[in-house]
Amino acid sequence: MSSFQVPVGISNRHIHLSEEHIEALFGPGHQLTKTKDLSQPGQFACEETVTLIGPKGKMDGVRVLGPARKASQVELAATDTFKLGVKPPVKDSGDHEGTPGLEVVGPKGSVQMEAGVIIAARHIHIHPDDAQKYNLKDGDHVQVRVGGPRGGIFDRVLIRVSPNYDLDLHVDTDEGNAFSLKNGELLEVVLD
Ligand SMILES: [Zn+2]
Repeated sequence: MSSFQVPVGISNRHIHLSEEHIEALFGPGHQLTKTKDLSQPGQFACEETVTLIGPKGKMDGVRVLGPARKASQVELAATDTFKLGVKPPVKDSGDHEGTPGLEVVGPKGSVQMEAGVIIAARHIHIHPDDAQKYNLKDGDHVQVRVGGPRGGIFDRVLIRVSPNYDLDLHVDTDEGNAFSLKNGELLEVVLD
């Protein structure tokens, strides 16, 4: 088999919060309020939003995604970083080495993140059964082909394998807009 199809999910800027930061921003004992399940099992969008403040500007209404994580993480599109005046590197989720921080403001307080602002590396979530079927392993990189009038190839798409994952390609809004992608559209993963 030389290719297979994957649905694309386009991620808008968002924030994952630690328990400590949830309480600092929303008050002691606060529990996140789920509004919508996301495509990956157990992940959800929350009613809660925050304001991000960078050296050059701020952004209101940035969505909190649950559940709580060990360390807070802000995921931005490159366009957002210009507005805020931060220069995060492209990183895999959870890798905060060399990343900048930001001030985060909630209804009950604010926190100064020392690190954890990233432009998320595009990636494919895949279940081990599918990974085996396509001879892929965690940490591999593949190419994804986009058709249509603004088509092209996403190079170096990271493969992330876990029994908790459903098949899904995650890109950010800049990447989605550049290729005129629609949420849920099927794209072609090219295998060597
Ligand atoms: Zn993802």
